[in-house]
Amino acid sequence: MTNNRITQLFNIKYPIIQAGMIWCSGWELASAVSNAGGLGIIGSGSMYPEILREHIQKCKASTEFPFAVNVPLLYPDIEKHISVVIEEGVKIVFTSAGNPKTWTKHLQQHGIKVVHLIASSKFAKKAEDAGCDAIVCEGFEAGGHNGRDETTTFVLIPQVRAATNLPLIAAGGIATGRGMLAAMVLGAEGVQLGTRFVCSDESSAHVNFKNAVAHSNEGDTMLSIKKIVPVRLIKNEFQKRIQEAEDKGAGAEELAAMLGRARAKKGMFEGDMAEGELEIGQISSFVKEVKPAREIVEEIWSEFLLAKNEVQHL
Ligand code: NDP
Ligand code: NDP
Repeated sequence: MTNNRITQLFNIKYPIIQAGMIWCSGWELASAVSNAGGLGIIGSGSMYPEILREHIQKCKASTEFPFAVNVPLLYPDIEKHISVVIEEGVKIVFTSAGNPKTWTKHLQQHGIKVVHLIASSKFAKKAEDAGCDAIVCEGFEAGGHNGRDETTTFVLIPQVRAATNLPLIAAGGIATGRGMLAAMVLGAEGVQLGTRFVCSDESSAHVNFKNAVAHSNEGDTMLSIKKIVPVRLIKNEFQKRIQEAEDKGAGAEELAAMLGRARAKKGMFEGDMAEGELEIGQISSFVKEVKPAREIVEEIWSEFLLAKNEVQHL
């Protein structure tokens, strides 16, 4: 049992947080992680507002433990998402991809704890100024949307730790108890894992995507489409085509036309492994099996304790 600012802030048993991930983290995964003693998060970026409401209601019915909703601030109907989380009595919101000044106070006025996701010390300070309750610092290794500066998790954690006093959760490249311990030694008080939970029974990802992740090798992902928004993807036909265009100097408009619409859904939810956008972290090459979320949480925690004991002998 760990008792620190993160477990206290969320009232959870383990400082293990499952990332909000479009098309992968619906109510089933979020409630399973929360029931296992971590913090489950519904990823709202791919949900229409009424779908989000349904997921929150199902999550409330499936767990008596705390859970959160991730709201990417660039979501087109952001006002509606904010209203839904408030109306449904959500207690914790993780915001990402936008300025934390816009919604933090409003959410807090409704009794909601707000955690903002950042990829640099500069944005960490902005989150502190905006009054956020905690931050997630996410490094270059992470899947999906990524910071432009390409700062790795190992480099980011100590600098963000030095830059702010906020409770700090580390993300990007963490999938095991040993990775968790390393992040905590560097100054994090909790960890957020996405990739590891894509390969869970409860994740809503298509089975083809889960299998592609479980069979991926080192070097199989790449940070792509930087002229639009940097996203880490599994290299497939689509990724190679768009990377080639970017290397030849294609502009943002041309790349956006190649990307088209709903490619993330096509890949991660509908299972098109050639033409879909497959957002996943570098650590996917270390994830080999699809398992129940509870087993994943328990494995991470027991490995963390084992590793913590081992380092005493170094
Ligand atoms: P814009 O470049 O249009 O920025 C809009 C405003 O929001 C700017 O004032 C910017 O600050 C601020 N802002 C954006 N993201 C954050 C953040 N995570 N934390 C604090 N403030 C933020 O917005 P975009 O969202 O398109 O991209 C801005 C940057 O954020 C890029 O570097 C991008 O790669 C990165 N990003 C990070 C994501 C994440 O949360 N992991 C997801 C998507 C993008 P300022 O004026 O200081 O730049
Ligand atoms: P696109 O613009 O290519 O497609 C939009 C997708 O989002 C469609 O699949 C659509 O579903 C779904 N969607 C849900 N709500 C709405 C809405 N109100 N208006 C329009 N479409 C909606 O975007 P992406 O698939 O690349 O990204 C989807 C969202 O997820 C964006 O808001 C993006 O910023 C966010 N995102 C968040 C990430 C994260 O949280 N970690 C990572 C990457 C993206 P349908 O096809 O059924 O119409």
